[in-house]
Amino acid sequence: MADAPTIVVVEDDANIAALVELYLREEGFRVTITDRGERALDIIRARPPRLVVLDVGLAGDLDGFDVCRAVRVGSDLPILMLTARDDEVDRIGGFEAGADDYLVKPFSPRELVVRVRAILRRSEPNRPGAEGVLAAGGIEVDTVRREVRANGTPVALATREFDLVAHLAAHRGQALSRQQLLDGVWGAGWVGDERTVDVHVRQLRKKLGPALGLTTVWGIGYRLD
Ligand code: CA
Repeated sequence: MADAPTIVVVEDDANIAALVELYLREEGFRVTITDRGERALDIIRARPPRLVVLDVGLAGDLDGFDVCRAVRVGSDLPILMLTARDDEVDRIGGFEAGADDYLVKPFSPRELVVRVRAILRRSEPNRPGAEGVLAAGGIEVDTVRREVRANGTPVALATREFDLVAHLAAHRGQALSRQQLLDGVWGAGWVGDERTVDVHVRQLRKKLGPALGLTTVWGIGYRLD
């Protein structure tokens, strides 16, 4: 385990911290827990971990947003924030502070593990698509030329349709909720209905056909495989 990547968990609720630690250890990570933002910054600066799981509400002087902003000064260390409420203020606050993703409590530890894996995949320097082409199933998304090909044939898409399929391809293998898709494609400040996502997905399915390996994840949203 000497070379196992370390994850720092910043959470003042001991039960949640212990649960998160248990699941992350099972996944082969080393875990360092602290309940204070100030202490977290010391730990992170002394030895930068592979990722930080950061609760918004902390016991000390600094809350999760403060810690996130402080880490972001000169570092792109991946950060997964935990928020107490599915409150727009918390979500927007988290992304403005520089978080890579967020989870709303209560969350399933399994989902946390999935999110952690997804963030780590995205933050790998050699991840597919670093050169601008994301491939998933029978489709290729060229984010530089803004072109989508289905089984090698270019398909014309509307702007939002392109953005949506590019976002799904960049997160392939990861189930994304409609809200996450709205945040990621339309922007966190966008005020609208989650059915907007379904409407665009229908268009994508129509235009890209079976080449689009898109699965509807019941009760969650969509996943591109
Ligand atoms: Ca807390």
